[in-house]
Amino acid sequence: MHNVVENLLKISEKVKLKFEANNNISKTPKIIAVSKTFKLDHILPAINHGHIHYGENKVQEAVEKWTQIKKQKENIKLHLIGRLQSNKVKQAIKLFDYIHSLDSKKLADKIFKFQNELNVKPKLFIQVNIGDEEQKSGISKDEVLDFYKYCSSLDLDVIGLMCIPPFDKDSKKYFKEMNDLNKIIKLNELSMGMSSDYLDAIENQATFLRIGSSIFGQRA
Ligand SMILES: *Cc1c(COP(=O)(O)O)cnc(C)c1O
Repeated sequence: MHNVVENLLKISEKVKLKFEANNNISKTPKIIAVSKTFKLDHILPAINHGHIHYGENKVQEAVEKWTQIKKQKENIKLHLIGRLQSNKVKQAIKLFDYIHSLDSKKLADKIFKFQNELNVKPKLFIQVNIGDEEQKSGISKDEVLDFYKYCSSLDLDVIGLMCIPPFDKDSKKYFKEMNDLNKIIKLNELSMGMSSDYLDAIENQATFLRIGSSIFGQRA
């Protein structure tokens, strides 16, 4: 069996076991196979195996890689997990089913404008700057509720919160903060957990795991 599929199956099994061991978790988390930087050839085994969710962090790269195959395999769901510049919104929402990086009113306004123009409605995650890091994008914790209300007033389909914890710290604390924050906002989805920490994310009610290198190998 191809390596990529083998890796995917191993991870699915671990996710399932973790889920079954925690009876306070309400739904099995979905795995977003983060395929950024990899060529379609390398991703195809996963697609042919029937895996549904894929993550990319650059709009242009994703357009080139996915436009064709997405027409052929209609069940594929594409997730934008990287920063979205407002001049790329139109392109992005034509292709992506989910956007995990909603992080400003300006971006919310743009998505609203183009979702009406194009008659699509992407599912959105508000990115939270959970570690209060200067260099990282995301809404700060104490502004998330207001920002969510703003997005709701625009009729955006906000389904959850997303975070990327500080890379040099133990993620557990941040995952717990995200879970607590969402107890106030009460959204259905939490996008958190990567190759190194997805099992900890599951313990804190993650519903979408973004896993790249453990599936596809190290990126160049
Ligand atoms: C690249 C990336 C991932 C996947 O990281 P791995 O450590 O390879 O699993 C997850 N989330 C975001 C936002 C990323 O950019």
